[in-house]
Amino acid sequence: MTDRRLTIVGAGLAGALFAALLARKGWQVDVFEKRGDPRVKGYEGGRSINLALAERGLHALKQADADGPVMAQAVMMRGRMVHFLDGRVELQRYGRDDSEVIWSVHRGDLNITLLDIAERAGARLHFHRGFVDADFDGCVARYRDGRDGHVEAVPFVALVGADGAGSQLRAAMDAYRPVGERSEFLDHSYKELEIPPAPGGGFRIEPNALHIWPRGRYMCIALPNDEKTFTVTLFLPNESPGDDVPSFANVRSPAEARALFERDFPDALPLIPALEQDWARNPPGLLGTLTLERWHLDRRAVLVGDAAHAMVPFHGQGMNCAFEDCVDLARRLQGEDDLGSAFAAFESARKPNASAIQRMALDNYLEMRDRVDDPDFLLQRALEQVLQERHPGRFIPHYAMVTFMRIPYALALARSEIQRVILEEATEGVAALSEVDLAAADAAVLESLPPLQDAAPP
Ligand SMILES: Cc1cc2nc3c(=O)[nH]c(=O)nc-3n(C[C@H](O)[C@H](O)[C@H](O)COP(=O)(O)OP(=O)(O)OC[C@H]3O[C@@H](n4cnc5c(N)ncnc54)[C@H](O)[C@@H]3O)c2cc1C
Repeated sequence: MTDRRLTIVGAGLAGALFAALLARKGWQVDVFEKRGDPRVKGYEGGRSINLALAERGLHALKQADADGPVMAQAVMMRGRMVHFLDGRVELQRYGRDDSEVIWSVHRGDLNITLLDIAERAGARLHFHRGFVDADFDGCVARYRDGRDGHVEAVPFVALVGADGAGSQLRAAMDAYRPVGERSEFLDHSYKELEIPPAPGGGFRIEPNALHIWPRGRYMCIALPNDEKTFTVTLFLPNESPGDDVPSFANVRSPAEARALFERDFPDALPLIPALEQDWARNPPGLLGTLTLERWHLDRRAVLVGDAAHAMVPFHGQGMNCAFEDCVDLARRLQGEDDLGSAFAAFESARKPNASAIQRMALDNYLEMRDRVDDPDFLLQRALEQVLQERHPGRFIPHYAMVTFMRIPYALALARSEIQRVILEEATEGVAALSEVDLAAADAAVLESLPPLQDAAPP
């Protein structure tokens, strides 16, 4: 490509990583971000303070040499620590050993690390510049400085929209040529709370796990932070049929929140001393799935990350998927002769995969809140481990394909569906692993699951 100039809208996780990847390859990159520089006044984004980083995201960070600083502050999570209502706790490992784990990373620190790398590589970062709209015929975009309302018009060669789920660039593209947008909001929302460090300065509960309090139609989770705190996220329905099911409609005040925790999360309550203040301060966050028919406007604009395919957070893959987008698009921009073909190839490769992880993320909510303490589910997980050992490279648990591998999400979904049927048939009417007809399960695996390589693109 001869003209190697691009403008990125949004310097969040995807925008900052993409800027770093391209600037390191010699592109002239300008990034326009609505907020202030988080390195000057601290990180402003209050949403989901920490995130689960998995193999796909880690691989992308390695492409920008960002893995070292990020992993230095990451906290390993070996599995789900399930907190039952009767006070029992149980660790359900995600993988076979500590080579198969996920990592809790701080959103603000991660963003700052990526901005530093992008800037050092030559990307020009423009803060307090919120994208307003674009004249796609004249190739000029307008940005507003939120501090004084001043609007500036800046020419572009092409725009990359990394401005998140509420993307203003997507709205501008849609106004110019409809992108076929559909948003489906979940009828559940979330609220963030905090577990501070213990009085002696350590973690209050096991740090190397993602804690879950599954309660059927709702749940609480907690992820560790390296400053020895945990970010707790309570997911509740927005409305409930009766007062026996808590929802954001009937748990409104801080006192009602305390009563909910006393009844349903009694072991979590003493860990959250500022429950009332956190409750009053943090508004509930919406959760939804966004799909588009088109992610790009010929050679002039393309969307990545949440701007193209926001998803519910229950597989912990939104950022991982956004990072995978960045690597894919950067590779295509290097390989194709013109921007339009790179954007089109990126869209056709990534769209089916984004749609697969969106679906798996929705399915995982049910699993987390309702199934992790269910005996049938636990028996199927145990059988999964046995079949993985008997058929290495052929039967790979669903969670492992999504989290520890980089095979396309769509392939992970297709194989997971086959495996789910095998597991359900093998455990039907069976109470223990020793009663499973392994010969029949082996035959089903050999017949329906060809060997799998982690043949992800470089
Ligand atoms: C509760 C919750 C938990 C989550 N947990 C996980 C997890 O564990 N693992 C995981 O992988 N993912 C998780 N996610 C998903 C993850 O947060 C997103 O997928 C990820 O942030 C997407 O990155 P992005 O850069 O596309 O968008 P964002 O991170 O939203 O960044 C968008 C950027 O654009 C800027 N911007 C917005 N509008 C404009 C404008 N008009 N002009 C200029 N700039 C603008 C914003 O200020 C921001 O900096 C979670 C999400 C939620 C809500």
